[in-house]
Formats: sequence, C-alpha cells, structure tokens
Amino acid sequence: MVEPERLQVLAKRPTRNGEFVLYWMQAAQRACWNPALEHAIFLANEHALPVVVLFVVVPDYPEANLRSFAFMLAGLGETARELRERGVLFVGRVGNPVEEVLKLTEEARFVVVDRGYLRHQRAWRETLAQRAPCSVIQVEGEAVVPVELAYAREAWSAAVVRRKVQPLWPRFLRPLAEQEPAVRSLDLDLFGVDFSDPESILAKLPLDRSVHPISWPSGTKAARRRLDEFLENKLDRYTEKRSDPLSDATSKLSPYLHFGQISPVEVAWKVSQSGSPGAAAFLEELTVRRELAINFVLHNPSYDAFLGLPRWAQETLLSHARDRKPALYDLEELDQAKTDDPLWNAAQTELRTTGWLHNYLRMYWGKQFLRWSADPQEAFRNALYLNNRYLLDGRDPGSFAGVAWCFGLHDRPFPERPIFGKVRPMTPMAQKGKFEVEAYIARVRDQTQEGG
Ligand SMILES: Cc1cc2nc3c(=O)[nH]c(=O)nc-3n(C[C@H](O)[C@H](O)[C@H](O)COP(=O)(O)OP(=O)(O)OC[C@H]3O[C@@H](n4cnc5c(N)ncnc54)[C@H](O)[C@@H]3O)c2cc1C
Repeated sequence: MVEPERLQVLAKRPTRNGEFVLYWMQAAQRACWNPALEHAIFLANEHALPVVVLFVVVPDYPEANLRSFAFMLAGLGETARELRERGVLFVGRVGNPVEEVLKLTEEARFVVVDRGYLRHQRAWRETLAQRAPCSVIQVEGEAVVPVELAYAREAWSAAVVRRKVQPLWPRFLRPLAEQEPAVRSLDLDLFGVDFSDPESILAKLPLDRSVHPISWPSGTKAARRRLDEFLENKLDRYTEKRSDPLSDATSKLSPYLHFGQISPVEVAWKVSQSGSPGAAAFLEELTVRRELAINFVLHNPSYDAFLGLPRWAQETLLSHARDRKPALYDLEELDQAKTDDPLWNAAQTELRTTGWLHNYLRMYWGKQFLRWSADPQEAFRNALYLNNRYLLDGRDPGSFAGVAWCFGLHDRPFPERPIFGKVRPMTPMAQKGKFEVEAYIARVRDQTQEGG
C-alpha cells in the first residue's frame, strides 16, 4: 500500500464508467518500486478493471537531444517488457503529452500520474487536471520523503531539510509491496508505437541530433547492477574517497535516478540496510542534497536563471562583474574546451564526450565560468547550458541546484575576493593538492583518443 502522504488528488470528478485505470508514466520510467504504478493497480483492482500504462515521447522536450532520447528509449523498451510480464499493457505514443493523455482519458475511469518537479512537468499535470473528464491522482515516487513534508517552502540550506527528513525516514524508507493486477490489460486494442525498437523511433523523431549518443547501459536492470556493485565494492570507502575523481567510489546512479529507471527509495533502503560505514554519507547525498535540489526547483520560480540565486550572492557577484578576468571565452570556445586551463579542458572534454563528470570536477568546472565571462549572468547561462546539453543526468533538479551552487546557492558567504566576491572560490592552483590532476588529465586524453 502506498503511503497516503504520497497521493495528491489533482482533479476530483464524479466517478464514471471507464474501461481501465490509466497510468500516465512520465517521471518514474520503471515497472518496480513505482508507487504510481502500484496505486493504479490498487485502484483498478478495487473496481475490477485493468490498468493501462501510457508513455508519451515528446520530441521537443525542453533541452533534450539525441543523447538523452537514446538513453531514455533504451530503458523504456525494458520497462514495457517488464510491465507485460505483470499483465499490464504499455502504450507508447509520440506527441504532445497532455493531448495524448487526454485522448486515452475518454475511456479511463481514473488517471494516475507520477510526480515531476520542473516547471514544464508541473504545467503538464496542471493542464491535464483542468481538462481531464475523470479524477486525476498524482503519486510521488521520486523523493524519499514527500516534498511537502520535507519542507513546505524554499529551504536555504541542507541543514533545514536534514532536520525535517531524517525523523521521517522510518516511515518512508521501506520496500513497496507489488500487487498482482486482478484483470490483465494485454488484450485491449489500443494503438501504440513499438518501443522494442528504439532505433526506428529515434530515426523518425524530429529532434536535436547534434549530441551523439553514448554507450552507458540503460534501464532498471543496468541500474540495479550498478547499485549491487556499489554496495559490494564502493560503499565502504565512500566517506573517504567520494571526493577523489580518480577513485571511482561513487554510485554513478544519477542518470538512472534522473530518468526514474530506479527508485530513490529502493536505493536508500538497500544502502540503509547494508550496515556499511559509508551509508550515512551516501544517504546525506541521496536523501538530503538530492531532495534539497527538488525543493529548490519546486519553490524557486527562477531556478534556471541568475535571478534565482540568493540575494547576497547576486549582489556580491554583480558588484564584481567589472573585475579584470584572466581571459574571456565565448560559448563555442568553452564547448570545445579551448581555454588555457588543462584541468578544465579535460573536465569539459569528459562531460561532452562521455556524458559524465565526477561531482568534485563538476564543482571546479562550474566555478570557472565566472573567471572567463563578461558578467555573472552570462557565466550562469553558459554553465547551465553545457551541463544540460551533455550530461546524461542533465535537466534534473540536481542540474539546476548544482550549477546554482557554484554561484552561491545553499552555501554561505566567504571572505571577499576578486571576481567571486563572497561566493566560495575554487582556483586552478588549489586543485593540485586535492587530487592527482595530471593523472586525471592523462586519463581523459586516453579515453577520448580511444574513440570517445
Ligand atoms: C556544477 C554541478 C552540476 C551538477 N549537475 C548535476 C546534474 O546535471 N544532474 C544531477 O543529478 N546532479 C548534478 N549535480 C550534483 C552531483 O554532482 C551529481 O548528482 C553526482 O555527481 C552524481 O554522481 P553519483 O550518482 O555517482 O553520486 P553519488 O555520490 O553516488 O550520490 C548518490 C546520489 O545522490 C544524489 N546527489 C549526489 N550529490 C548530490 C548533490 N551535490 N546535489 C544533489 N544531489 C546529489 C544524486 O542523485 C546521486 O546519484 C551537479 C553538481 C554540480 C556542482
């Protein structure tokens, strides 16, 4: 049974006849540990109806490109198969999400939808709730603690969220029981695109093809393999080694979490049961930092702009906007990693060619935009653009909060200095003592020469 705090009735309409319960899958692209799916099955069983899962591929999805679509579609093929094994029909469509959902609501008794936190995800759900002829229920599965309980307004630091969520873990950090659908939906005659062949869907979609796909294994099985390997080989050294980009001590689960291919509750539950000395530090990232990022995009209307930064950070950065910069690079030079900083160039090259970057390097990478841009607004814009264009986990609440952190969000003022003002600085020289910079640069060179 899904915890009632995860449910929100977005639209209440008189119950009417309908042939099935429709689950519009959008943020939680998985067939297990998915409270929206389980709630849809629960409702369907109560009314002796089948469940239909609809997924709509949106060709003009904000900031998406061939890299992100290829990863997503590969994972959805597996999700469709797993749903079929549970007797649930998966219908894939291409188009405007609200219009496609509305077409199926004509025959639905209820619509269940999972929860997404970004502006466009919220807007789609609001429009659907206004126009659907039946009740619409939203089920929150992408945060461990439902966000309104975690903190009902914008939180300015991790400490605030930590204090609220930790006491709630015993209630929300637990396995989700799977139910058997009482009525199978596989024989329903509903038009859908075949998701077993992602290549043919990709070939037909009018999308941005300028960013090449990469070979990360996609899907829930791949995510679980990565989680198992992390629990077995890395979690014990997470506390000491997670800040070293050469140690490979973090989970690399963020792309799977971003596409909802694995549940944050499943990950947090398994880590909390591991008894590992690294569990507390990991849970801090997954359930405090990650949920602080969700809080940011949910409550700050300018989460993707310089204006969304705390007032002190905007003021101090603007007061240093005219400081002398070591160099100025335009977006094309930054994109092509043509700066005079070999470490930054290596990080940008890794990000662009592999779709991945270690957290410590993301921090360093993001901070340097200030040193090379005409003003802090341009620095913020370029950093967010490159982050979301190339990273597999880009376009996530963590993307907006992560980039904004480089400009002072969720941080405290530091002693004032040129360019950065009171925002925490990170300079090239200071990195030498932190990790083996030359080894990292050589590794990226080797990786990218191998055909990256
Ligand atoms: C400039 C900058 C840009 C970033 N861009 C993104 C982005 O596009 N997408 C993204 O998901 N994260 C982003 N982050 C946050 C963080 O770097 C990544 O989530 C993390 O590196 C992912 O690696 P991992 O899965 O191995 O993390 P682990 O250390 O294994 O942590 C487990 C999970 O906790 C969450 N997490 C970890 N660190 C953070 C953090 N600092 N803030 C919020 N959540 C966190 C992630 O979901 C992560 O998968 C960014 C941070 C910075 C400083």
